Amino acid sequence: MKNTGHVMSVCVDDPDPLSSESTDEPPSIPQSLFGDIFLAPHPVRRHPSACRIPISPPSQQFLRNFYPQASEAEWSNWHWQIRNSVASLDQIRRMIDLTSDERMAIMCHSSGLPLRITPYYASLISRSDPAQAIRRSMIPVMDEYLTSPDEKPDPLHEEHQSPVPGVVHRYPDRVLFLTTGFCSSYCRYCTRSRMVGCNGKFRSSIKQWQQAISYIEQTPQIRDVLLSGGDPLTLPDSQLEYLLSSIRRISHVEVIRIGTKVPVVLPQRITPKMLRILKKYNPLWMSIHFTHPDELTPETCAACTQLADAGLPLGSQTVLLKGINDRVETLKTLYHGLMKVRVRPYYLYQCDPILGSSHFRTSVETGIEMIEGLRGHTSGYAVPHYVIDAPGGGGKIPLLPDYFQGRTAEGVILRNYEGALFRYPESSLHHAPGA
Ligand code: SF4
Repeated sequence: MKNTGHVMSVCVDDPDPLSSESTDEPPSIPQSLFGDIFLAPHPVRRHPSACRIPISPPSQQFLRNFYPQASEAEWSNWHWQIRNSVASLDQIRRMIDLTSDERMAIMCHSSGLPLRITPYYASLISRSDPAQAIRRSMIPVMDEYLTSPDEKPDPLHEEHQSPVPGVVHRYPDRVLFLTTGFCSSYCRYCTRSRMVGCNGKFRSSIKQWQQAISYIEQTPQIRDVLLSGGDPLTLPDSQLEYLLSSIRRISHVEVIRIGTKVPVVLPQRITPKMLRILKKYNPLWMSIHFTHPDELTPETCAACTQLADAGLPLGSQTVLLKGINDRVETLKTLYHGLMKVRVRPYYLYQCDPILGSSHFRTSVETGIEMIEGLRGHTSGYAVPHYVIDAPGGGGKIPLLPDYFQGRTAEGVILRNYEGALFRYPESSLHHAPGA
């Protein structure tokens, strides 16, 4: 994309719903994709359009029930998914038996994080169970309006660490590039709830991107750029490629990363055309936001597999959420499923103290218990780093169970995953003959 006056006036926060995917290749679904990850009893229908993401039986049923005029080709088109997202009380109450608390919370909503759920992701929500994990992470409740003095709109002080709009420069060698304020589905616990969504303050533009790119160009210690938002994969292909190519041209940037929830909430976005674009800009890493094993559908597994096949190393990031994923078995199921589709569990975040988040936040002890229940009990690759992003902008601080039990003259005392104590003879290093 050229830097013309016309282009500079374009606001990039609204995805282009009219752009065509007609150049995409015919479908080619990896045959080994589903294996034992997906336990649905029915065969998965693959749509004969350019989209290579299948349509699973629950989604087919949902399409018939709530979008009877739409075809499977439309369902498989990510622009259609965004255009037809669920964003009002009238829409959502047709699909879900709302509790009075949920209904009231949606009716009270006037500003802040909007309600928006793609039809695909809405198809995963339980109609009848208000405690279901995905439902709790997407449907507002009245607890959202309760705030405590410790909660802040920007607890991580991202706005204090922003040298130019849309860039957060916290660590010496890497920056966070906030590319858009748009997400196709809004998580109620979003750390950036102050800025994402149409009611948020953040509205990016090509001009703002260019300022950000100039800052990166002029700051040679930056070797790693994380594209985030909002969700960068909701940008049209042309804008995504503009960003990737502009950053890839900067000689001191070694690695580009993308933080996204799109493979989970809008897997139809993973088109052959987008994969071709991503492949061009390797080394490109991707952190995918997962919340619960219910998200490991054939659609999302296909999206992850296609991204991995395109050569992207994939990691997951998950926010620890009270009553949603704060059980060891839940996380273990999620992490085992992720490993099967080549997504390495990377971060487990303590929920940030944004406004109205107390109903989502667990104790720190709960987070440590999750790691205690995973480390040693499953593959090391399936154990993420449990971190607290320090309020005030201190960065991520890793937390571990107390495996180091002390030091004696004979060495250090360590506790293993079963609670047994062992001595590592550190002191002998100093006394070994010839040392
Ligand atoms: S996808 Fe990420 S940025 Fe978007 S609402 Fe969810 S947590 Fe926030």
